[in-house]
Amino acid sequence: MMDSSNSNDAKDSGCQRDNSDANEEMKDDLCPGFKDADTFVKYGLGAVLSATKASASLPLAGDEYDFYRSFPGFQEFCESQGDKLLHCMSQIMQHHGCRSHIRDRDKLTGMEERFDLVVDSNDVILERAGILLDEADGVNRSQKPVMPAGFQPPKVVVSSWNRKGSSSGSRSETFRLLHAKNIARPQLKFKEKIDNSNTPFIPKIFIKPNSLKPLASYFTNKQIRKERPEDLDVPAALADFIHHQRTQEHVEDMFAHPYQYELDHLTVSESLLSKPEPQMYKPLAETNLTFIDSLEDLVALNEKLCKSSEFAVDLEHHSYRSFLGLTCLMQISTREEDFIIDTLELRSELYILNEAFTDPSIVKVFHGADSDIEWLQRDFGLYVVNLFDTHQASRALNLARHSLDHLLKHFCNVDSDKRYQLADWRIRPLPEEMIQYARSDTHYLLYIYDCVKAQLLDFNHGQPGLLQCVWNKGKDISLKKYLKPIYTEESYLELQRKQKRSFNTQQLTAFRLLFAWRDKLARQEDESTGYVLPTHMMIKISEELPKEPQGIIACCNPVPPLVRQQVNELHSLVQQAREMPLLKAEIAAQKKKGLTPVRKPEVSLFGPHDTSRVSGGEAPHFTADEPAVKKGVLFSEDVDEEETSGLLAPPKITLFQDPENPGDQSSMSVAQMKARRIIESFENPFRMYLPSADVRVNKNAKFDPSSKIFEISKRWKLQSVEQQQKELEAKKKIREEAKQQAKKASEQRAKAKQSYQESLQKVPTVRQQAAESAKDGGKKRVRVPCEAGEETSKPRKKQMESAEKPQKTEAPSQESFRPFDYSQSDLKVFDGAKTKDFTQFDPNRQPRDFKKKKIHQGQNKNSGAGNRSMSYLAGKSERGFRHNWPKR
Ligand code: AMP
Ligand code: MN
Ligand code: ZN
Repeated sequence: MMDSSNSNDAKDSGCQRDNSDANEEMKDDLCPGFKDADTFVKYGLGAVLSATKASASLPLAGDEYDFYRSFPGFQEFCESQGDKLLHCMSQIMQHHGCRSHIRDRDKLTGMEERFDLVVDSNDVILERAGILLDEADGVNRSQKPVMPAGFQPPKVVVSSWNRKGSSSGSRSETFRLLHAKNIARPQLKFKEKIDNSNTPFIPKIFIKPNSLKPLASYFTNKQIRKERPEDLDVPAALADFIHHQRTQEHVEDMFAHPYQYELDHLTVSESLLSKPEPQMYKPLAETNLTFIDSLEDLVALNEKLCKSSEFAVDLEHHSYRSFLGLTCLMQISTREEDFIIDTLELRSELYILNEAFTDPSIVKVFHGADSDIEWLQRDFGLYVVNLFDTHQASRALNLARHSLDHLLKHFCNVDSDKRYQLADWRIRPLPEEMIQYARSDTHYLLYIYDCVKAQLLDFNHGQPGLLQCVWNKGKDISLKKYLKPIYTEESYLELQRKQKRSFNTQQLTAFRLLFAWRDKLARQEDESTGYVLPTHMMIKISEELPKEPQGIIACCNPVPPLVRQQVNELHSLVQQAREMPLLKAEIAAQKKKGLTPVRKPEVSLFGPHDTSRVSGGEAPHFTADEPAVKKGVLFSEDVDEEETSGLLAPPKITLFQDPENPGDQSSMSVAQMKARRIIESFENPFRMYLPSADVRVNKNAKFDPSSKIFEISKRWKLQSVEQQQKELEAKKKIREEAKQQAKKASEQRAKAKQSYQESLQKVPTVRQQAAESAKDGGKKRVRVPCEAGEETSKPRKKQMESAEKPQKTEAPSQESFRPFDYSQSDLKVFDGAKTKDFTQFDPNRQPRDFKKKKIHQGQNKNSGAGNRSMSYLAGKSERGFRHNWPKR
């Protein structure tokens, strides 16, 4: 749009005008005067074409334009047309709700602002066009956002408070459940603060009812807890952990299951292994339901439960807006009554239920208790002794499916609706429908317990074996210990391996850094990692390694609030990753194992697939028959005496070359050979710093004449004295013998070529990798040829820096850029006013400077944190991509 002629403004306006006509026409009818959209589009394109042609044939800036302008008629015409065009543009902008004071001269400070206005408006218009095209393609952006993997947002909910209108009960007229952002964070009112520290979970229990073995003193004796030093400015649990780790006291107790002993000694009574007569559940309508949100009621419930011989339990949980997750509700059903406990309210008091929950003479019936057992420990310090899991029973019975819905249908002929399962259970007050749903999770469970018990015995011809197995399963589940997610340096690899994608080192580094950032922030803000940055977005960012902060935003749809907030931090992480040498996957794998990867020569820093540092504009030229090394910057063609004879450049490469292709020994300098010998003589000089059972090197070994280290360092010192003399002589020789110098220089070049070619040999591997990932469904790996091309431009840049010989072809550097002085420009094209200083408009000056300014601006916009222009990208990027850009 702005790269060809000097009559850009006129050209743009021409296009705009055309659009405006089209828009006005489309207002009333889709395409009035046209038989269909196609003819309209054809006509529109024709009009744009002729407008473009016309603008191109306008008098060129310079002499021609100046000449024409000396005729008042031409001047007048230009002014009137200019006004007309501005009017059109202004109208289009208004139509799209953009700022439109382009014609309002008072509000304008200059061309720059006008230009910004046009750019902004173009962005808006293009964005809208894109959205409409998406819609036409069937992509509806107003649909619910993609939720993070693992989290499923509340499904369509049938409930009165959530229903459009109130009369009809039709299920189609429902809304999605209120979303988390409308809900106050329950964590805020917890008495005991959440401990997201990266330390193992320590049980919350401090009283142990029904104990056969008393609770370890660590939990009962507050004095012990107080032992921890006060200087630890960390959460209490963490301070405890650190303290006891240090003292090695109580550590075993801290991580033991408090009811391990009791569960180990639990025997199933005869009565529980005999065939029961299933006791029918009471109809829901005749059953009392108590909502418990006070300690008083909770105590009363506990007393009731202690008197019962069995009760059913279920929990509802929330995991999206919390790092560890929150138990939001507990449902309990006895044969007579249903109870729903607000566990957010009574979080710190629920431990009193341990009296009933750990009583071995009371059966606790759960359905699929694995998670419940962990949540009970984590949030309330509750344990279960004598657990029966109907899910395990269903498995033992080999039923068709083992879900609660299925058991309900199978045994109670009740159609349950599990749609609330994933509702946001933090909502208070709980909508009636959710209460009813929660209640039905336990209401029928004791009857089902009877039924499956009877069937398990029948199944096994009256023998208790199978039933006993289910009881044992229950015991195993009760013995589960809650494990807090612990972040380690390797955590990211676990997640990465699941992705079935191969990452190069830069991508893997980005993934690692993002993973660490996400974990840290999630713990800090008490949000799930999925809320902070869903894994699929994390992968996208790692794969794309966006150059700009906006690119990170573009990888996320919808943009997670914390990503938006910390986009600059994320950007710096991505940049850090981009600075990594681009290595092939095997090396990355070595790193994974914790081995020191073999260091590659620095050449790999600008591998052909490193698109990272080269902007799209710098299209490099890479031809096979032209030896790339000539263009390369690896070493300057100009032989520098100091550099080639010194230790500096070549040894850097040779020293770290792969052991499998050791550098050409004959081409090694004496210093290089020395370095090599020394390296070979080392077993591993860092061993003394490593915890190793078999190698014990004293730190003082360096000073112990009998040690190997001493020997090596002595040898080094001796050799270096010797070496210095040799080098002095060599230098003298070099100065004297120009021939030899030239020979050396050519050797260096050959070496450079060689190492460069070595680097090129790596190309297929990376390319293969790219091809593979493209096969895997990665679409953007098609970029390979372009990436390969970009290699040469990077070296060229480097060369320029070192040689300090900027070429004309390069874009003007920041220093050489002279900002355009708008006060000197004639804005007559727009306002027709005459400038005093310049009676004669100098078009040569203005358009060129203006063009520069525009380019410069564009760069600034891209690199800044803001999200300004999208117009420049519009042509290049795919539609879908552009639409991910944030809204203004
Ligand atoms: P339930 O035992 O079926 O009542 O489920 C208890 C809790 O587990 C629910 O409140 C959810 O938080 C969670 N949950 C159950 N099923 C799923 C699932 N398919 N995906 C994610 N979370 C689930
Ligand atoms: Mn459950
Ligand atoms: Zn449930």
